[in-house]
Amino acid sequence: KEELNIIQGALELRTKTVEDVLTPLSDCYMLSSDAVLDFCTMSDVMQSGFTRIPVYENERSNIVDILFVKDLAFVDPDDCTPLKTITQFYKHPMHCVFNDTKLDVMLEEFKRGKSHLAVVQRVNSEGEGDPFYEVLGIVTLEDVIEEIIKSEIVDE
Ligand code: ADP
Repeated sequence: KEELNIIQGALELRTKTVEDVLTPLSDCYMLSSDAVLDFCTMSDVMQSGFTRIPVYENERSNIVDILFVKDLAFVDPDDCTPLKTITQFYKHPMHCVFNDTKLDVMLEEFKRGKSHLAVVQRVNSEGEGDPFYEVLGIVTLEDVIEEIIKSEIVDE
């Protein structure tokens, strides 16, 4: 029954981690920090359908900002505004979590507000060099809720 499923999902929040539910970096829709908000870029953003878009510098693993689609409300595509102008104006805080963060902890953090999207990173100590932080992907409140109700939420 559905209720049982939900109870089980809720119990599993204590054992599952954000790594189990994240959207991998390769699947993330992102923008490069040197993008220009011309008609082409803005319609691409609209068509992606996402509300929050990570912004990376040089390489996709280097996320430096989050663009909210609502930040674009006053942007005229004819002005060809650099994306940096917008991200520097709004300066949304970026929320990072480690890959082994349990989903119940993540849910509490999301409930406390700030942001409903977090960048997931892990410490990579494989290989010879010094350990470094490696971005694995992003996790949102929706990913955690889907884990509780055990079914896909189909986006609007
Ligand atoms: P949105 O409000 O943009 O639809 P949600 O928070 O509802 O985003 O998340 C819906 C799903 O889309 C989640 O699985 C989340 O990980 C994923 N998601 C959110 N933003 C992006 C993005 N920029 N690129 C790829 N996937 C994303």
